[in-house]
Amino acid sequence: MPNDLVIAIDGPSASGKSTVSHLVARRLGVVYVDSGALYRGLTWKFLREDVDPSQADRVLAVLTMSQWEFFVSGGTVHFLVDGEDPWEQLRSAEVREKVADVAAIPEVRQFVCNHLRGLRRFGSLVMEGRDIGSVVFPESAFKYYLDADPEERARRRYREVAGREEDVRFEEIKESLLQRDQKDSTRPTAPLQIPLGAKVINTTGMSVEQVVDLIVRDVRSRIGSKQFSGQ
Ligand code: C5P
Repeated sequence: MPNDLVIAIDGPSASGKSTVSHLVARRLGVVYVDSGALYRGLTWKFLREDVDPSQADRVLAVLTMSQWEFFVSGGTVHFLVDGEDPWEQLRSAEVREKVADVAAIPEVRQFVCNHLRGLRRFGSLVMEGRDIGSVVFPESAFKYYLDADPEERARRRYREVAGREEDVRFEEIKESLLQRDQKDSTRPTAPLQIPLGAKVINTTGMSVEQVVDLIVRDVRSRIGSKQFSGQ
């Protein structure tokens, strides 16, 4: 495996991106990056500092003053914010409800995008998100867009959340997912979209292994035949 590739995996919430990206990175022996974790990390920081996403000056103050430290642990990029590790709280209900509003702020997107580009210092990456193939690494030769029917995505998210939290209702999870999709695909800056040149994979009815296999084989065969240019 060359050490300067970026494999971009985009798609809406609960399309299977995280599980698939993680496994693809492991199979290829490269570092995995969950770009949503950075948006969640900022949301966590804003909640902690009691900053509302509408308070532009306070948002900018956090972006300029907070210190972010990135490191690889277990093949995944993690970070500390001002020396604290927010990892366990990134998937809390409070963060989940606010993150799409935070991610719609152009300065926030620029901040995250700059950090994501800097992660290439860790070598080849599998990076998942909403705008990796379209904005963060548009020149990547390896772009995949995962999708699945909304009902199927809501079921996947429900199973995931129900394993962690008590008192969750399917309808609420589905509603929150659809709202987030709506915000993510209609925001003016870097909306969720199929990146130019991306291979679209509809994962409805496919097993995780099937999707992982499809991507790993595609990457390997194109590296083997040198059928790519750029990254
Ligand atoms: O992938 P995850 O659900 O953790 O992402 C949380 C939120 O972060 C998304 O709903 C979206 O608003 C934002 N996000 C984004 N661009 C990315 C990754 C995540 O806008 N590349």
